[in-house]
Amino acid sequence: MIVDTHAHLDFPDYKDDVDEVIKRAEEAGVEYFINVGVNVKSSIKSVELAKRYSRLYASVAIHPHDASNVSKEGWSQLEALSRQDKVVAIGETGLDYYRNRSKKDDQKRLFRQHIELAMKEDLPIIIHNRDASSDCLEIVRSYSSKIKGVVHCFSGSKEVAKEFLKLGFYISFAGPVTFPKANSLREVVKSVPVERLLLETDCPFLAPQPKRGKRNEPSYLKYMIPVFAELHKLSIEDIKRITTYNARELFGIGQVVSKGKIAYVIRNSLYLNITNRCPNRCVFCSRETNPYVKGHYLRLEKEPTSEELINAIGDPSSYDEVVFCGFGEPTERLDELKTVAKYLKENGAVVRLDTNGLGDLINGRSICEELKGLIDTICISLNTNFEKDYKELCNSSFNGKAYPSLFSFIKKAKENIPDVMVSVVGIPEVDIESCRKIAEELGVRFRVREYNNVG
Ligand code: SF4
Repeated sequence: MIVDTHAHLDFPDYKDDVDEVIKRAEEAGVEYFINVGVNVKSSIKSVELAKRYSRLYASVAIHPHDASNVSKEGWSQLEALSRQDKVVAIGETGLDYYRNRSKKDDQKRLFRQHIELAMKEDLPIIIHNRDASSDCLEIVRSYSSKIKGVVHCFSGSKEVAKEFLKLGFYISFAGPVTFPKANSLREVVKSVPVERLLLETDCPFLAPQPKRGKRNEPSYLKYMIPVFAELHKLSIEDIKRITTYNARELFGIGQVVSKGKIAYVIRNSLYLNITNRCPNRCVFCSRETNPYVKGHYLRLEKEPTSEELINAIGDPSSYDEVVFCGFGEPTERLDELKTVAKYLKENGAVVRLDTNGLGDLINGRSICEELKGLIDTICISLNTNFEKDYKELCNSSFNGKAYPSLFSFIKKAKENIPDVMVSVVGIPEVDIESCRKIAEELGVRFRVREYNNVG
């Protein structure tokens, strides 16, 4: 399943074969399309296409190129179009100082008009920005966080991407990411968290490398997805799932999932989600605000039994590793964890446990010896080098007992589990070098996890 969030299938390029183009896209796994209007006529056609094809949605706008020629009637028509069924965005709108086909002041005024229309209709915006980053950012910032959207066909710098990300925007890249000389653009792709990435073709323009110079079409997303996968060190399936989820979050299209997964794949690792429970409420934990990890919905309706977990695992030897992780703290369900880990070891799996290290307090006894022979690697969240900071960062229900117990857990893990790693989240509140020193003194591996990058 994939979403092409930016196509112009209403353009004359497709007048003879739009049915075939859509069919080819569906065969290539494109489940939804957003057809993006560039003037009133094209916005009307977008809405018509959305009526004709169940999986196609429309965005309506007047392109900045035409900003100096917008009539009152034209704008009224556009406002009416924005209220039509299946219109999911306002765009493409923005600023184009590369071609400068309209006066800058007119472009800025029209951009603001579009933003205000989007806010009124509670729709996201699709931004076109060419050589106008500074003004674009200034205008978007002036609406504070009231507006959401995507900067399409991004061609700016990492710094500009960072500023749009700070404003809560998504970023999408078109075919040029596949061009052999586009190394600096690919560096920008790497800097955009995959949770903020959207797929687009911008067809008929900018066909990806194998089709470069030809008419582009949504099925050609298949040439771009492997590039994103490689840059983000994820699988093709991961990119498809995550960007589809992102499109749903921004545009509200597609199915809403509400059943938490007990086993889910990221890259070639299988993750097991065995509980929602956790004694901590860490300030950096995303589970309070977002039940998704890399496009997988994880909030469980009920805790799975060992049997249900084993059935969901299938053949564990085909994965690089099987990880107890998920939405809550796995040692909350020590019996099930041990039963399933035993099954995994008997069936040739490499097993990792990601834990907050409070398993001794949770279970009222020292548990590391019980994990001997069942777990190959244990990754324990150290989080900080100070007990006081731990209290503030982790809000543990065990209060003052938590940090000393975590320390003794790490030491006991080292005696019983072959590979022990401690981790911290890279946020300003954490003294990373002091934590690294603690890991060295304890003789365990150390890892800094990226804030807001789970899975
Ligand atoms: S210990 Fe882990 S799961 Fe629990 S609140 Fe902290 S980050 Fe979230």
